[in-house]
Amino acid sequence: DGPTIFAITPTFTRPVQEAELTRLLQTFLLVPNFHWIVIEDSEEKTPLVTNLLAESGLTYTHMNTPTPIRYKLGKNEQVWNKPRGVEQRNAALRWIRNNLNESRSGVVYFADDDNTYSRQLFKEMVKVERVGVWPVGLVGGLMVEKPICDEATSKVTGFNAILKPERPFPIDMAGFAINLQVILEKEEAYFAYDIPSGFQESEILKKVTSRDELEGLARGCTEVYVWHTRTENPF
Ligand code: UDP
Ligand code: MN
Repeated sequence: DGPTIFAITPTFTRPVQEAELTRLLQTFLLVPNFHWIVIEDSEEKTPLVTNLLAESGLTYTHMNTPTPIRYKLGKNEQVWNKPRGVEQRNAALRWIRNNLNESRSGVVYFADDDNTYSRQLFKEMVKVERVGVWPVGLVGGLMVEKPICDEATSKVTGFNAILKPERPFPIDMAGFAINLQVILEKEEAYFAYDIPSGFQESEILKKVTSRDELEGLARGCTEVYVWHTRTENPF
């Protein structure tokens, strides 16, 4: 058996939520050894998510934790220092560290609920020894934001990012996964508030790895298996 993929998905109540989660779960059903960690941004677990998970056929863990009120984004508000999903992803990391140990073979991935995932992505992810990276479509002002990679060695030699290219790791949340052993080893690695937008990924990655350690996947970072799609609010 291959490693278990632990996919961490923060989610919150809005009109498109059920559609998003349905699209995700039907992709995830195609992935062997998959464990979905869903964390609702709410005071209580909702019946919608509870029922959807219960009927999904997936292995899952369902949690909830509200974003602290001062960090909650208002409707139509765009604020640089109000990152989304921080509280929820950290709760999932805590759950992993409290419930899994070194005997378990796994890979941890942050799978936002609105992105589009190819099943191919998960075939790459199981190869991650420490920290794997790959291209992400439709993000950072580019058709494809990607690491520049030596295909023979998988070494990352640079990035093509144009959005804040000075970021320590100029890649999107959907563009990397971390081996479970690394998550357990670097037990102090969490996301943080009050850091500029676009720097969440760097925040966790700089605590667990360095640029020269990254493993470039998806055929030397040439294939796109995940897209940073964003669903319009229909109302
Ligand atoms: N999210 C959340 N609470 C919020 C806003 C977003 O839990 O108030 C979740 C959302 O469902 C998604 C993740 O956080 O899984 C990232 O949010 P979003 O997709 O809006 O971020 P972006 O696409 O702008 O990076
Ligand atoms: Mn998104």
